[in-house]
Amino acid sequence: MIQTKTVAFSKNCTNIFFHILTKCNLKCRHCYINPGQHGKNTLPLSVITAWLKAFAQDSHSKNIIFLGGEPTLHPDLPAAVESARNLGFGSITIDTNGYLFHDILSKVKPGEVDYFSFSLDGAIRETNDRIRGAGSFDTCIAGIRKANSMGFATSLIFTASSANIHEVDRLPPLLKDLGIDRFFIQIIGLRGRSAQGNQTRIRDQKLQVEKSQWLNTIPRVARRIAEFGITVTYPKVFLGPAENFECAGLVADNYFVFPNGRVYRCPLCEDFALHSSIFKNNRLVPAEKLNERDLFQLNIAEGCVMNKLIQPDNLSYDSAGEPEYKIACCLLKEEIRRVLGS
Ligand code: SF4
Ligand code: SF4
Repeated sequence: MIQTKTVAFSKNCTNIFFHILTKCNLKCRHCYINPGQHGKNTLPLSVITAWLKAFAQDSHSKNIIFLGGEPTLHPDLPAAVESARNLGFGSITIDTNGYLFHDILSKVKPGEVDYFSFSLDGAIRETNDRIRGAGSFDTCIAGIRKANSMGFATSLIFTASSANIHEVDRLPPLLKDLGIDRFFIQIIGLRGRSAQGNQTRIRDQKLQVEKSQWLNTIPRVARRIAEFGITVTYPKVFLGPAENFECAGLVADNYFVFPNGRVYRCPLCEDFALHSSIFKNNRLVPAEKLNERDLFQLNIAEGCVMNKLIQPDNLSYDSAGEPEYKIACCLLKEEIRRVLGS
C-alpha cells in the first residue's frame, strides 16, 4: 500500500543545515548560494566543531546535513562527521553534486554517514547538464553507483523548474535502476542565482513552475516512484481551503548555518541580512532587529509572507481581490512511501 502524509512541524527535532563553505566546482543555473550574503570562507575544523557544540547542547534529537557549496571540497569533512557523531547528532547527511572530492567515500564509513544525498536536475544528460554544467550528469550517476556499491545509503534531490518538469515521467525507471533509498523533489525558488536577472529564465523560458503543472505532475510521479519502495518527499506548496497555514520559523526547529556566521530559520530569507542569529566568537547570539522573526509573526491571507515578498508571481487573486489559495511554508513536505505488508 502507498501512504501519503504531510510531515508535521516539530520543535522536538532539530535540523541543522550546515554550509561549511560556499566554494563549488559547478555553477548551476538555480544555485541558491549567494556569496555576498553567505560569505566566501571555508570554515576551519575547530570552528565547525565549536558551532556543532552550540547546537548539541539541548536534549532534542538532532539531525545534521553538511552542505556547501560542495562540502566534499572541504578536506576536513570526515573529521567534521566524526565530531558530529561524537556530539550525539542522530542522523548525518552529506549533500553532494556527485564529484565526491578528497576521496570522501573511502574516508568515512556507512555506519558514520546516514545518507549521501546527490543532486540531479534532469532525467537525461542534456537537460541536467544545461542546468548544472557539462559532465555533471555522468559524474553524479557514477558517484551514486559507487556510493551504493560501497554500502552507503543514498538519496537524490531534484529541483523542479520549467526547464525539467516536462521529463519527470522519465525519472521512475532511472531512480529504480540507480537503487536510491530516498528521493527529494524541490521546487525552484527565486533566490541566489535564480533570482538574478537573466538566470530566472533558460532559453527565454520562465523557470518557475505553474500551479496546474505542479499539481498535475508531481504527486502522480511521486506515487509511481514510491511503488518501487523509494520514499519520496516533495513540498506541499499550495494549501487547500481547509488546510492550516503554519510558519516553520515559529513552530519548528531548523537552522540554516552559513560560513560567515549567519544563522537563518527560513530559507527564503537567505538572500537578505534577515538572519535571526549569528555566531560571534563561536557563540550563537540573537541578530539585530529587524530580522526574519519579525516577519514570521505577520498573518496574511496569502500564507507565507516571504513568498509574497520575493516571488508573488505564484499567487492568484479572485475578482474581489481575495487570494484563491494560500502558499504553504516552503518547509512543509508531503512524504509518500510504500508501507510494510503491501
Ligand atoms: S547548486 Fe550545489 S552543486 Fe550547483 S553550484 Fe550551487 S552549490 Fe554547487
Ligand atoms: S518559508 Fe514562509 S512560512 Fe516558511 S519559514 Fe519562511 S516565512 Fe515562514
